Amino acid sequence: MSNTTIFDKIISREIDAEIVYEDDIALAFKDINPQAPVHLLIIPKKPIATINDIAEDDRELVGHLFVVARKIARQHGFAKDGYRVVMNCNEDGGQSVYHIHLHLLAGQTLGWPPYANSAPKQVG
Ligand code: 5GP
Repeated sequence: MSNTTIFDKIISREIDAEIVYEDDIALAFKDINPQAPVHLLIIPKKPIATINDIAEDDRELVGHLFVVARKIARQHGFAKDGYRVVMNCNEDGGQSVYHIHLHLLAGQTLGWPPYANSAPKQVG
């Protein structure tokens, strides 16, 4: 599977996004189709297609995405009220862009559980 996605074009500024945070390792920007008053995507600059493709050596990088989430939550003032971070994997997880990303959702009380209108299937 090719790792080239729309997110690579956001990293290289080939296409625009509303970027809210950037460092050497990660980038965070507003989701184009927000599902909450605050809906940001936090991505590593290194292209990793799915959670299944995370290597042992990527531990620090993946942990860094959560550190960025924590920093943004504090800076944007919703750390205390709360928020949700989600990473979808493959089709059943609802992944549509194959470059790992944390969804950071905030700004309202979020519903749980997150699934709807699907029948469970046998796993394991
Ligand atoms: P996934 O479904 O893979 O977990 O999440 C992908 C997210 O990327 C979706 O929430 C979708 O709205 C967002 N997205 C897709 N294309 C673009 C784009 O070109 N720009 C921005 N800012 N977000 C995008």
